[in-house]
Amino acid sequence: MANIAFIGLGNMGGPMAANLVKAGEKVTGFDLVEASRNQAKADGAGIADSAVSAVKGADVVITMLPAGKHVLSVWTEILPAITKGALIIDCSTIDVESAVQAHALASEHGVLSVDAPVSGGTGGAKGATLTFMCGGEAKAFAVAKPVLEKMGKNIVHCGGAGAGQAAKICNNMILGVSMIAVSEAFALAEKLGLSHQALFDVASTSSGQCWSLTTYCPVPGPVPTSPANNDYKPGFASALMVKDLTLAQDAAKAAGAATPLGKHAQEIYKAFDAAGHGGVDFSGIIQHVRELAGK
Ligand code: NAD
Repeated sequence: MANIAFIGLGNMGGPMAANLVKAGEKVTGFDLVEASRNQAKADGAGIADSAVSAVKGADVVITMLPAGKHVLSVWTEILPAITKGALIIDCSTIDVESAVQAHALASEHGVLSVDAPVSGGTGGAKGATLTFMCGGEAKAFAVAKPVLEKMGKNIVHCGGAGAGQAAKICNNMILGVSMIAVSEAFALAEKLGLSHQALFDVASTSSGQCWSLTTYCPVPGPVPTSPANNDYKPGFASALMVKDLTLAQDAAKAAGAATPLGKHAQEIYKAFDAAGHGGVDFSGIIQHVRELAGK
C-alpha cells in the first residue's frame, strides 16, 4: 500500500482520489473548499489541514488543479516538504511552459515528476476509465504507471517533460475542430431535408467517421448516450473547451506552428461561451452553428 497525497479534490480530483481509496491505497487529501474535503472524507480519504501537511511522508503526491498558475504555486509550496526520491504527478490540464517549469522545480528538490493530464471527463474519473497522457523521465513514469492504473485504463508515456500536456492540447484541438465540422454537417443536412439518422448511418460508416460523430453525436437520436439526448448537460463543458483551445493557440504561437482551424474553433467556442453557454456541453455548439445561418 502506497502513501498517497492528493491536492485538488474537485469534480475530477474527488472521484480520482476515491478510486485510489477503493484500490486499497492510503490517501491523504487537501482542497481549499470545505465541501470537497468533506466529500473526500466520506469517500474514505484522510484529510490534512494544509497541502504541506498532506504531503509529509507521502510516496506519491498528485495534484489536480484548475490551471498552470495554481500548479506552480502549490508545487512551490509543497516540494520542500516532500521526501527526496518520492514522486509528484500533476494531472491538471495546463500550458506546456508551466508544466516544464514544474518539472524543473521538482528536479531541484530531488523529487521525480510526471505531467499526466487526462481525457475521459468526470464519467471517466468516476469509472476509473481515464486516459493518462504522460510526460517525464522513464524512471518517473515507471513509478507513476501502477498508481495511474488505479484511476484509468490507458496510460501512455508520450515523451519528456511537458509531452503529456502537448498530447492533451493537440488531441483536444482535433476534438474542438471535429465537433464543429460534424455540427456544420448536421446543420447543412437539416437545410437539405436529410434526416439526422440518414446522415449518421452514412457518415458513421464512411470517410466522415470520427469520435465527435460516432460516440458524441451532437444531435439527439443516433447515439443514445451522447449529451444531445440529455439537454446538452456536460459531459465536457464548453468553457473547458475554450480553455484547452486557448492553451493550444498559446502553444502554437510559442512554437511557431500554423493552426488556422484550431484558431477558428477557439473563436467559435469563445463566442458560444460569451453568449452565456459556458456550462453547456461542448457538443451544444450545434445550436450556435444553426444560429449563424441567420446572420
Ligand atoms: P474543479 O474546479 O472542480 O477542481 C479544482 C479543485 O482545485 C477545486 O476543488 C479547488 O478548490 C482546488 N484548488 C484550487 N487551488 C487550490 C490550492 N491552492 N490548494 C488546494 N486545492 C486547490 O476542476 P475539475 O473539473 O476537477 O478540473 C481539474 C483539472 O482537470 C483542470 O485542469 C481541468 O482542465 C482538467 N480536466 C477537467 C475535465 C472535466 O471534465 N471536468 C476533463 C479533463 C481535464
